[in-house]
Amino acid sequence: MNILDGKLLAEKVKNQAREAAANLPRKPGLAVILVGNDPASQVYVNGKRKDCEACGFYSEEYTLLAGTTQEELMELIAVLNGREDIDGILVQLPLPEHLDERAVLEAIRPDKDVDCFHPMNIGRLFIGESGFQPCTPAGVMALLDEYHIDPAGKRAVILGRSNLVGKPMAILLLQRDATVTICHSKTPNLKEICREADILVSAAGHRGLVTADMIKPGAVVVDVSINRNEAGKLCGDVAPGGAEQASYLTPVPGGVGPMTRAILMRNTLWAARQHQNLN
Ligand code: NAD
Repeated sequence: MNILDGKLLAEKVKNQAREAAANLPRKPGLAVILVGNDPASQVYVNGKRKDCEACGFYSEEYTLLAGTTQEELMELIAVLNGREDIDGILVQLPLPEHLDERAVLEAIRPDKDVDCFHPMNIGRLFIGESGFQPCTPAGVMALLDEYHIDPAGKRAVILGRSNLVGKPMAILLLQRDATVTICHSKTPNLKEICREADILVSAAGHRGLVTADMIKPGAVVVDVSINRNEAGKLCGDVAPGGAEQASYLTPVPGGVGPMTRAILMRNTLWAARQHQNLN
């Protein structure tokens, strides 16, 4: 079993973004908004700032009080929407419960929606028009490409149907001519379906869900999930030692996670090129 090294490829993608950014008339600019003081979200935001620095991008961070109103947040987004030096706007999720997440995400100008959450960008993705791609599924596709794993004609099974991961993952694999099955928490015969997969993508967020008897020998296993084990260490959905018979496996951590961050940089670069009429 070989490792799909997301850490390594993420560095490569970020280096490419840095080189491309250095040749632009104006640096790509990313604004990140965090509402409240959730420690995990703070870690993600810090990571994004570091990635921007590494890529030579301009970045701004807005840490708003947990009690920020919908109007205040919408006002900030409106200002950032109008700024010429800001190419991407990212609102760190989850938002505090009193805020309307959908309305906030839809307020971001679609050409600055580097997370690819706006319905217009999701719609474009669905009909195969080029544009932003959702960071995590696009990161998985980049990993498959790097290791010359061609989804065409393969049977792909995805565990999870979220708007963030499962559904867009299915679209991207379908666009590359895989035959795709999406499974979820109500799917019966999960084992049997998974055993048919040449490419198994697990994004259920359920530690130990994927066991050896669910993996076809030689399958490619992509573990998107980020869980914690009893010892508090990060782990995915694949049970320890569960993927010995796979041909490839993404480690957790060091697989899909770093790729998600790298694709955000790629999307921000793409937006900056669009805004400078270079694409
Ligand atoms: P989610 O909770 O929104 O969706 C989970 C999906 O898995 C649901 O559709 C549910 O039906 C399905 N599911 C749950 N239990 C199942 C089971 N036993 N069998 C089959 N399906 C089951 O989560 P999400 O936002 O899609 O994230 C999924 C996981 O991926 C989480 O662990 C999250 O932390 C991780 N994640 C990782 C990255 C990354 O960069 N690596 C990015 C986003 C999310």
